Amino acid sequence: MKVLISEDELQQGISKMATEINGQFGEQPLTVICVMTGSIILVADLIRQLTMPVKLGSVHASSYRGDTSRGELELDTSMLPDLNGTNALIVDDIFDTGHTLNAVHNHISRLGAATVQSAVLLYKHGRQELEFDVDFVGFEIPDEFVVGYGLDYQGIYRNLPYVGVLESGDLADEQENN
Ligand code: 5GP
Ligand code: MG
Repeated sequence: MKVLISEDELQQGISKMATEINGQFGEQPLTVICVMTGSIILVADLIRQLTMPVKLGSVHASSYRGDTSRGELELDTSMLPDLNGTNALIVDDIFDTGHTLNAVHNHISRLGAATVQSAVLLYKHGRQELEFDVDFVGFEIPDEFVVGYGLDYQGIYRNLPYVGVLESGDLADEQENN
């Protein structure tokens, strides 16, 4: 495993995002929507640095079928609170092709929120397949498959405290353990 963003760097990036979000919303209440499962750790760290009244909701989005390539997107929005008239902030782990955030954004926009913005920890370069402006970005990263700090490969590695790049040896070790 190669460390791409260390624990310290992650906390600095998240503090910077929190400062931007606090600056933009001031004391206005915010409904943070955690895109499960990958953004659970980011959301936990981020919302503790937000200073306005925060409500928390979640949607479940999955597009990776236990592999590193994209499959059909499944979206479960049954866990959302009432968004009518609220400022909604969708928080996702990584912006890759953009299909996930675009789909979540479209769905949330139809639920009556006054404003809908988005924040991602990681923005992967050179992968975007549609026009979509992310409002708050933690880190821009090269086009590599990353794990850790919420991001998984076949369901594991989410608990790593840093963001790392899988190396071929990691995948081979994993297959031996299965
Ligand atoms: P998109 O729909 O933008 O192509 O992909 C976004 C979703 O794909 C993310 O929420 C994440 O779950 C997954 N994804 C994209 N790139 C990576 C990556 O490098 N590593 C991991 N673990 N997941 C990724
Ligand atoms: Mg995701």
